[in-house]
Amino acid sequence: MDCIFCRIVQKESPAEILYETYNVLAMLDIRPIHFGHALVIPKSHCVDFLTLPEQSFHDIMHATQIVARALVKTFDLEGFNVFSNNGRIAGQSVFHFHLHIVPRYVGDAIRFAPMLKSYTGRSMAENGERIRRNIQP
Ligand code: AMP
Ligand code: ZN
Repeated sequence: MDCIFCRIVQKESPAEILYETYNVLAMLDIRPIHFGHALVIPKSHCVDFLTLPEQSFHDIMHATQIVARALVKTFDLEGFNVFSNNGRIAGQSVFHFHLHIVPRYVGDAIRFAPMLKSYTGRSMAENGERIRRNIQP
């Protein structure tokens, strides 16, 4: 398996590393939406959010908060987005789980869902029922 993020973790590929612990690494995205756009990854390879080990949740979120605070301070941000693309259809291009932290600016016109749908009748309750049937804690 050839994974660019694993190579960065192994220090075999260069990256602008922002923060690192024994199991998490944060770096600048090489093609940023805005300068300072950062990625937070587990050091141990997993493909996506569904395969991220539960033991990593806290450390990933903690590192994300630490880096987000640094971005807010550095760029004097009023806001930022934290997100993860899962699956090619959702825009995932590197198949090693990562959270994006993207600075936001007034008037930057970045939109995630320009065509919002509306639930009608019982369809919201029906969708809720279908999903609840598949909840497996
Ligand atoms: P995604 O499309 O959600 O899988 O995000 C992958 C991100 O990784 C993209 O925004 C890329 O610009 C970024 N990326 C790919 N290769 C590198 C690299 N070598 N160093 C830093 N960021 C990278
Ligand atoms: Zn990897």
